[in-house]
Amino acid sequence: MVITTEKLRQYAESVGLDLFGVANIERFKDAPPRMHPAAIMPEAKSVIVVGKRILRGGWRGIEEGTYWPNYTYFDYSGLLNSFFIPWGVYELACFLEDHGWEATPYYSGVPERQLNREPLRQGAVPPDVHLAIRIAGVAAGVGEIGWSKVFLTKKFGPRQRLHAVITDAPLEPSPLVKPGTICNRCMECVRGCPGAIPHIKEGKTVKIQIEGETYEWADVDMGKCTLMYHGGDPRTSPFLHKDFPGWKFDVTEQEVSEGAAYKFAWTLSGAKWRPSEEFPSGYVVEGHAMLMKWGVGEREGSSYGVEGSRGCMRSCFNYLERTGRIESRFHNGAFIKRPRWLLPAKTQPLTKEQIEAYRAVDEGRK
Ligand code: SF4
Repeated sequence: MVITTEKLRQYAESVGLDLFGVANIERFKDAPPRMHPAAIMPEAKSVIVVGKRILRGGWRGIEEGTYWPNYTYFDYSGLLNSFFIPWGVYELACFLEDHGWEATPYYSGVPERQLNREPLRQGAVPPDVHLAIRIAGVAAGVGEIGWSKVFLTKKFGPRQRLHAVITDAPLEPSPLVKPGTICNRCMECVRGCPGAIPHIKEGKTVKIQIEGETYEWADVDMGKCTLMYHGGDPRTSPFLHKDFPGWKFDVTEQEVSEGAAYKFAWTLSGAKWRPSEEFPSGYVVEGHAMLMKWGVGEREGSSYGVEGSRGCMRSCFNYLERTGRIESRFHNGAFIKRPRWLLPAKTQPLTKEQIEAYRAVDEGRK
């Protein structure tokens, strides 16, 4: 049986994937060698990019300031990135193989670094190749990249995660989503982000071209973004207020690289410390450590989220839904329903009553 883009689309839907598109390999002609699909599969003809939605309700608890676990566990790296999507990706790759085509499933966990290394084979690209999955998504016509650097689709706005399959099957490419189809530079992402994307002041942007279309987005300060997202920001982590009362740390004043931000936030979040009467949990930040268990576990490439993309995701889809720029509709109207919360950069010392309340929970008295 001949495989076609349309048959693959139908198959992808049948295995639970919400988004699907195909890029021909020519659309990657400007990609750096260590980010080129042909560096993984030299005979590659097509890159299939698929995705699945992040549930809008996955953010509800964080938006209300009441409940964190489900976002990391279901909607981020715990299951969505590590099980729900990869299962469909693998089935899609098997489907291609059943038709005689080689297929390489691509897991889009965040790569932290590409070390300078020699190629293992003469003429090859050095190892540790990774795709820019959002750019692959643009090349496959799945969506565009918004001003916030977040990938946007007509179905869900910013609410999805992407994976890919590289194959030597020659497939009809999907039409590109033209720049500006979804993102109209409303800047709700900037207003909703707690000051962590000062690229606006600097006016820096990133531009790429695919088949004559220019896609441009803000050059996000990933140091500040990473600190905030992964729990280094007292304004967006109530867990820091519990475990570091009286501490002041203003993310907007930090000028650190993304790598340094990861080192700080992940170490802070995952580290253990001897239990004391004041902090009986045995963790440096107990709430973060629990999120890490659900999102990271022992797996490489996994992650956890504390801040929950207040601006670049929640403000963005709230706007896109409200203005009808995307297809998502909900009976309960706008996502943001109440005044939003933001804590002070200086954590509040706990009262005696609060300490006693925490202790009672730890000791099983409540
Ligand atoms: S909120 Fe979304 S649509 Fe508006 S500028 Fe930001 S990325 Fe674009």
